[in-house]
Amino acid sequence: MKTQHDLPPGKLSHCQICGGTDLRLVMDLGHHAPCDSLVWPEQLGDAETVFPLRFLVCESCSLAQIDYVVPPQVLFFPEYPYRSGITQTLVDNLSRTATSTMERFELPSDSLAIDIGSNDGTVLKAFKARGFRVLGVEATNIAKIANESGIETIQAFFDEGVADRILSSHGSASVMTATNVFAHVSNLGSIMRGVSKLLQDGGVFVTESHYLADLLDTVQYDSIYHEHLRYYSVKSIIRLFNAYGFTVTDVERISNYGGSIRVFAVKGKNRPVGDSVGDMLDFEESAGLYDLATYDSFAARAQKAKEDLLSLVLDLRRAEKTVVGIGCPGRCATLINYTGLGPDMMPYIAEQSTSLKLGLFLPGKHVPIVDEKRMFEEQPEYAIMLSWHYAKPITAKLRQRGLRSKIIVPLPEVTIDEG
Ligand SMILES: [Zn+2]
Repeated sequence: MKTQHDLPPGKLSHCQICGGTDLRLVMDLGHHAPCDSLVWPEQLGDAETVFPLRFLVCESCSLAQIDYVVPPQVLFFPEYPYRSGITQTLVDNLSRTATSTMERFELPSDSLAIDIGSNDGTVLKAFKARGFRVLGVEATNIAKIANESGIETIQAFFDEGVADRILSSHGSASVMTATNVFAHVSNLGSIMRGVSKLLQDGGVFVTESHYLADLLDTVQYDSIYHEHLRYYSVKSIIRLFNAYGFTVTDVERISNYGGSIRVFAVKGKNRPVGDSVGDMLDFEESAGLYDLATYDSFAARAQKAKEDLLSLVLDLRRAEKTVVGIGCPGRCATLINYTGLGPDMMPYIAEQSTSLKLGLFLPGKHVPIVDEKRMFEEQPEYAIMLSWHYAKPITAKLRQRGLRSKIIVPLPEVTIDEG
């Protein structure tokens, strides 16, 4: 049971959680380069490596998943350009991870808190402020930024071996967190064994992952990319934790990334379970998460949104209007490559001035990523909101700063904010 959760790179033929083989294909998005493998100007003439991107659901345990594991070194390379601290909304949400946990559990405030995939240390700063000893584990060079800002961080992929090292250097932890990483890891078994070793008995493991119900409901096909191996339902995540001797005691829905779940799992079997767990399972049943027809409808809505966006942009281009992109979250690579919007139709993506992505190009379609100053200067007639899952607050801010372009929101269905 346990070793099957350590997935080798390459094609998968069984469900990532239950090991079953009743996998139903929901959407085949074709071949894509990893969405954060942005292209440097000098690489534009080189070959790009692409991998299949297929979205499936397990008919036995209702885990939605892709069926190809790209080697983690390819996906989360040292220069990985994602930094959680730069989006204020995200900083606030990540601080809530720590406060929500401290409110629910009586954790000794001088105990150790460990964050897996700790990025720039945003989650741990909130624990540190409350007196916890903190330790981050982060594979990319962003670990250096965290260390420089006073959050001790080990640069590594977390696994059982790293857990052993931490146990001898720092001792055990009362709380561990993994935000926006638990759906990404291919060595899930090794991680679960490592967390189990490091946590004290009764310690809590908090994970935050994009939520399958939100993905289906608001047609977030753009959140399907190689980094996201799994799209959890509460039902499927409970099954996973049970296999490692954890009890899922509470679940919260949170707004991160267009809809996520924060799952609290206590080390030990048969711990007291809050009402939220049963409520969420009832909700999933009523929302059709265990019903294949729901997935067919999702695929049909995704295709319609693609066709509507493409025909709108083609009409605008024929009318000689300028259309650019706003914001470059990782997920926009799926949207752009699936829809087929190249620089011939969308000459650039405007990204905030602090972004590590400026000067690079989107994989596949090679749309350049430029400083948003250019968009404010040029005031293009239309701009496609690529971080559409935060469309409202971002639009309000852009209007306040003087952007007059009509803003196209591509999903869940195409709408236009006339400004
Ligand atoms: Zn399954």
